[in-house]
Amino acid sequence: MSTEAKPAEATTEVKTESKLVITSDVPVSQKLTDFFDAQLADTHNKFCIDCKTKESTHFLVWLSCYTCKDCAEQHRTAVGGNNKCYVKELFNEHWDDYQLKSA
Ligand SMILES: [Zn+2]
Repeated sequence: MSTEAKPAEATTEVKTESKLVITSDVPVSQKLTDFFDAQLADTHNKFCIDCKTKESTHFLVWLSCYTCKDCAEQHRTAVGGNNKCYVKELFNEHWDDYQLKSA
């Protein structure tokens, strides 16, 4: 009787290099564009909630409402910077799940 000694298999480690992804370099997905196209098809979303005259191009995440660029800028400066008030552009920015939930 011979017991076969199994050769120790060399585990090939798959090294996944964690590269820092700069999201602004990644093209915005078609899905996202389609989503906002659909959102803006709704007349409640199509026009700015503030001035009600211009078409929406931005979104205020903390208020979950659509605004035009000018009103978005006003909100941005009124609150004191983008970090605090979370103004997003609809078509040129990436969105995470949390932000999309409020849309
Ligand atoms: Zn407006």
